[in-house]
Amino acid sequence: MNAKPNSISWQERSRTLQFRTQAFIAGRYADAASGATFDCLNPATGKLLARVASGDQEDINRAVSSARAVFREGSWANLPPAERKRILLRFADLIVAHGDELALLETLDMGKPINDSLKVDIPGTARCIRWYAEAIDKVYDQVAPTGHDALALITREPMGVVGAIVPWNFPLLMAAWKFAPILAAGNSLVLKPSEKSPLTAIKVAELAVEAGIPPGVLNVVPGLGQTAGKALALHMDVDCIAFTGSTATGKQIMQYAGQSNLKRLSLECGGKSPNIVMADYPDLDRAAKAAAFAIFFNQGEMCSAGSRLLVQESIKDALLEKIQAVSRKMQPGDPLDPATRLGAIVDETQMKRVLGYIDSGRNDGAELRFGGRRVREDSGGYFIEPTVFEAVKPSMTIAREEIFGPVLSAITFKTIEEAIEIANDVIYGLAAAVWTRDVTTAHRTARALRSGTVYINCYDADDLTVPFGGYKQSGIGRDKSLHALEKYTEMKTTWIDLS
Ligand code: NAD
Repeated sequence: MNAKPNSISWQERSRTLQFRTQAFIAGRYADAASGATFDCLNPATGKLLARVASGDQEDINRAVSSARAVFREGSWANLPPAERKRILLRFADLIVAHGDELALLETLDMGKPINDSLKVDIPGTARCIRWYAEAIDKVYDQVAPTGHDALALITREPMGVVGAIVPWNFPLLMAAWKFAPILAAGNSLVLKPSEKSPLTAIKVAELAVEAGIPPGVLNVVPGLGQTAGKALALHMDVDCIAFTGSTATGKQIMQYAGQSNLKRLSLECGGKSPNIVMADYPDLDRAAKAAAFAIFFNQGEMCSAGSRLLVQESIKDALLEKIQAVSRKMQPGDPLDPATRLGAIVDETQMKRVLGYIDSGRNDGAELRFGGRRVREDSGGYFIEPTVFEAVKPSMTIAREEIFGPVLSAITFKTIEEAIEIANDVIYGLAAAVWTRDVTTAHRTARALRSGTVYINCYDADDLTVPFGGYKQSGIGRDKSLHALEKYTEMKTTWIDLS
């Protein structure tokens, strides 16, 4: 089913694509208990794509009970890690086997180019599952260096029932960053995808059961944040919430944890990441290409977007010219066209929000270097062209708030000390980059930047082996790498008296 005859376009395939729109609880599809649904629109056309089950308290209760029951019974949690690994590898294989279908669904649901869904999101999801599958039977517990008369074991146990609440910008990939380590560690989970992009998560839950993960271990409840999400975060029998989304919602989730059962929390939140380019960096073409991708890839809907370009005064014009040249090849197009590099903004609300920030930049006195308009309006979809502001002051709203769209704010600086001060002077601290040929400047700057990741002479370099997460209001905890397992396990000391 995966082989796509070249003659069939993605547009044609989209017309016959079949997919489910219900919750997936205890291994079965189910409508919302209330019968309610919410509308999912195709952002490239503005037309109705699906009516999806709108889960609420009762559906969350059912999903949590099924997750708890299977956790207690131990058919997943107590499997030898090598056995969990075998099943998870099969799960990853099934995702690859259904790759075309999942990629198409992702693109129709959230507007990203089909080329990206096929080359980034779906293979990235499979790779993430495989990585944690391969890791889990190689992680050892510890024996504490106590005296001779005792044996003290420090072991890690699965947390229990984890609630995962995820956003829409990489719907399946961000979910996989949660569910892969959660499942590998032996937990059960309830996944609440974003109401703007729930479709691939629903499909993947079915594939998990097909792979041999016991029914009830991976449940998916689509629904609104204020209903399904809130019910999950307030639930007294959920041990932990793994959240990715905005800082504002992250703060609410912390409150829900405090109001309920002090559940464990990890929060992957927003960013306003600085990309610092020094005049001594010798390859301006490379820096320009990376700077353009850092803000225009995925329509700029990226937590780690390099949305503030901090450029040393003397090279400002040369760099912006080169960024403009790259952006000409990244104009918005039909997401189903394999040649498209910039797709649709996820929905009308988000498009208006981004256009509002563009207005605010103009009103605050920043100079629009290029872009700034909604385009392809005839399609009925939500498209914004790559946009760059210059003469941006660090105090302006477009230099301080996360826009989550293809809008770059260029700020000039004279010295690296000034750049570091501007870079750190926001509430966020997710990613940052510095481009320089001077090794001392590179290392000193990396140390001084208050952010979870610092790239030197690159941007958005990525590997599952490295942790990803934020300082300050960009979040708490880390996704990816073996460190993610810490979030989904409790640490136990067992003291044995040998005297
Ligand atoms: P959002 O906060 O609006 O929603 C995220 C999720 O939370 C959705 O599933 C939503 O339904 C749910 N939600 C909303 N209100 C809730 C509530 N009161 N209780 C419980 N759940 C609730 O964010 P978004 O617009 O979907 O995503 C964009 C944000 O995600 C950006 O700020 C971006 O930077 C961030 N993000 C961060 C990372 C990271 O790794 N740090 C990765 C991707 C996206």
